[in-house]
Formats: sequence, C-alpha cells, structure tokens
Amino acid sequence: MIDWRDIKRGKTTDVYFLRTRKILGKLKKNPRVAMEISAERLPEGYSWAVFTGLEDVLRLLEGRPVDVYGLPEGSVFYPGEPVLTIEGRYREFGIYETAILGFLCQPSGIATKAARVKLAAGERIVLSFGARRMYPTIAPMIDRNAYIGGLDGVSVVKSAEVLGIEPKGTMPHALILIMGDTVKAAQAFDKYIEENVKRIVLVDTFSDEKFEALRVAEALGERLYAVRLDTPRSRRGDFRRIVEEVRWELDRHGFHHVKIFVSGGIDEYKIQELNDWVDAYGVGTAVSNAPVIDMSMDMVEVDGRPLAKKGKKSGKKKIFECECGMREVVPFEFETVICACGKKMKEKTEKLMENGKIIKPLPSIEELRERVKKEMKKCSL
Ligand SMILES: [Zn+2]
Repeated sequence: MIDWRDIKRGKTTDVYFLRTRKILGKLKKNPRVAMEISAERLPEGYSWAVFTGLEDVLRLLEGRPVDVYGLPEGSVFYPGEPVLTIEGRYREFGIYETAILGFLCQPSGIATKAARVKLAAGERIVLSFGARRMYPTIAPMIDRNAYIGGLDGVSVVKSAEVLGIEPKGTMPHALILIMGDTVKAAQAFDKYIEENVKRIVLVDTFSDEKFEALRVAEALGERLYAVRLDTPRSRRGDFRRIVEEVRWELDRHGFHHVKIFVSGGIDEYKIQELNDWVDAYGVGTAVSNAPVIDMSMDMVEVDGRPLAKKGKKSGKKKIFECECGMREVVPFEFETVICACGKKMKEKTEKLMENGKIIKPLPSIEELRERVKKEMKKCSL
C-alpha cells in the first residue's frame, strides 16, 4: 500500500519526470522555473469550483527550496485562473507534478460537488454517505473534502475521527431484515443506542413507506426524530409524490415533529425536486465519485523569461477581484488593478510558501468550512 513516505520520495511520479530529471542532471541543467496550476474548463458545465487539497501540496513541498503563490484553500475559482504557482529550480520539484495534481484534482472535485449539493439543499441537513463506493483508504480524504465543501456530517468513523466530529448515521436495512419488523428494529435501536444519537428509522424495507412511517411514529412517539426513505430506483415511482404523501400522513396524525430523511441516488438536481418536503439528505456516490477538476501544471517561466507551450499564456500571474464580482487575471508584477466599474480590485493571490517554509498557519477544518461558506455567497447552480 502506498503511504506518505512513498509520495515524498517521488514514487508516485510518472516515469517521464524521472527520465527528465536524469537528462537534466547529466547536462547539469537546473533552471529556475515557474509552474502554474489551472483548469481550462470545469466538468459538467460548472461555472465555478472549490479549491481544496492545498494542505497536502504544501506538506509535500515543505523543506524544498521553492516559493508557492496561490489562492488559499477553500477559495472559489473559475476556469483558466492560476490557482497555484510554484517557483524554484526544476529538478527540486518537477517529479512531484503527478502527486501535486492528484492532491488537488480529486479533492477539489469532491469539495465542489459537496458545495453544489449544499447550495441546492440550503438550510436542510446533508450527510456524506458515499465512502462505500470508493477504496477504503481514501474515505477520510473524501469526507474531509465533502465536509469542507459544506456537507453537515460524515458517516465513516475514521473520517469523523480525523475531522474531530461525531460520525452521523441512521440504521441499515440489515437490522430491520434481521429483526423481521420495522417497529421491532426501531424499538431495539431506541433501547440500546446512546441517548445522544437521533432516532432515525428506515421505513421502506417491508411495506409502504406511509404506513410504516405511521407505525414507527406511534411506537416511538416524541422519541422518533425522523423517518428515512431509501427506496431503490426500481421501486420508487414518483419519489416526490411518495415523500409528499408521507409528510401529509405524519402531519394528519399529529406527528409534525417527525422529520423526513432521504437517501439513495441524491444529487444537487434531485434535491431541487425534493427540497419542499425533505428535511435531511444522505448523499453518496454523487459526492464520493464526483468528477475530478481537470487541472494541469504548466511551465510559464524559465530563468525569469516568460515561456509557455502553445495554447498557454506565458508568465506568472495573479488573480484580482472587485467587490462588484468581476475577476481578472493579470501579470504577476501588477500591484493595482482598476475594475471596469471604477473600483480598485482586491488581490486574491497570496504567498503561501517561501523557500520551503509554510508562511501562515494552515487553517483548521472549521476555518476552511467558513471560507467556503463565505465564498459560496457569490455562487449559484
Ligand atoms: Zn467592479
């Protein structure tokens, strides 16, 4: 199994970078270069994305003689923007290109999808349930980015431990099938599970969701927090109608306090259909298998001269943003940029590392969540 030391040693590089390093070594060439990371386009027609994974990149480069500039982790960015620029002697960091992009592309994809899902859900609770669709060792990475992106909790115990939060979950169909009855399963759960865990009972195992919801509500009364509907697509029919009907029956019988929790095939679009009736969601594959943000790392300067491959603008760059919302990418040496609206734009690019030293303390998970939340105010689906 690959671990952090293998990545630091450059074992996860593409072999052509090792060959390049060998050739440059033989020729005694080691120019100072600037390499820029950006995404020319975003997946699924997104107009914005959330930048995460920076902490791992900085840890990887820590101690190497390089300078790093870019957006702070948790920033929203747009196609074509230079999210990160690394400057140093090429042989000092060139072989890390594979790992650096991997640290950014998948995490940013997950955080972006999580942010979209949360944007659709608004005040409704959304939990990350998708670790089961992915290789287990990356579960904490998936959940970290789902949580930074805005989801309200994670189900995997190890992920929660890493994030310093309590894991969240309901009950599996297995418990109900073994107990043979939804109410019996609900009562056993209520009897044996800690008081601080919310009583959320699955109501789609044996019979109609509406009748099961009422039976469980009658059995648990005030102790029932929510019912969960997780009906497979093949049996679902018009899911919005089913959820609406369950809400109606619960209210009609006086169970206004019982919330409705929905999972199974949920994404930002399904949430937009269901949000009138649903109080909380479990989101799985849509987030854990989110499309990666296709970033590339391109050389833009060699020995202080602007130089880039065709199709790529040369020279180091910075991002500026105006309070009116306009953003501009300008040459690195620009100090002030005036927006078309007449206001002075604010520089978004920060110096993150100097000669291998991380400049500012890395933000906590909660600080990252706050940044994403603040940045999301300018975003829509
Ligand atoms: Zn402006």
